[in-house]
Amino acid sequence: MKLVILDRDGVINFDSDQFIKSPQEWSPIPGSLEAIASLTQAGFRVVVASNQSGVGRGLFDMATLNAIHAKMHKQVTQAGGRIDAVFFCPHSAESLCQCRKPRTGLFKEIANRLHVDLAGVPAVGDALRDVQAALAVGAKPILVKTGKGLRTLRGGSLPEGVPVYEDLREAANIIISETD
Ligand SMILES: [Mg+2]
Ligand SMILES: [Zn+2]
Repeated sequence: MKLVILDRDGVINFDSDQFIKSPQEWSPIPGSLEAIASLTQAGFRVVVASNQSGVGRGLFDMATLNAIHAKMHKQVTQAGGRIDAVFFCPHSAESLCQCRKPRTGLFKEIANRLHVDLAGVPAVGDALRDVQAALAVGAKPILVKTGKGLRTLRGGSLPEGVPVYEDLREAANIIISETD
């Protein structure tokens, strides 16, 4: 099975330091929906692994998060793609959960639920914690410059050898070309 793991905010949709708290605030980065469609049509299963601490902070509730994801699924479907599942951590940054990236719970849940080995599975993110979580489970981290990506690059802590692409469109094209 070909699998790709995507962070959500800053990779698929525009991020906000004020959190994405409503479906109205969720808006796709140009090219990201088409990129997911390309991955789907190339035979990839696409899953999302996302920290959503706004739930734990009480900024929005689960019903709202579900509505945001319903909008995302609808727009991806309309573009000809499919997101198989969204795995998210709803806990606050202060919680000691195992799922908030850079911890590995979300990735391990993906491995368990899909019965896959994550070794070498491309994992696209815009933050250092996305890269760290991917590395910790043996996946293949990829950084995009959208969202917090440029900030992450300038931070200078990106582990050596992590590929950096402009956006999900470029990352998807490379992922597809490398697995043909
Ligand atoms: Mg992000
Ligand atoms: Zn969590």
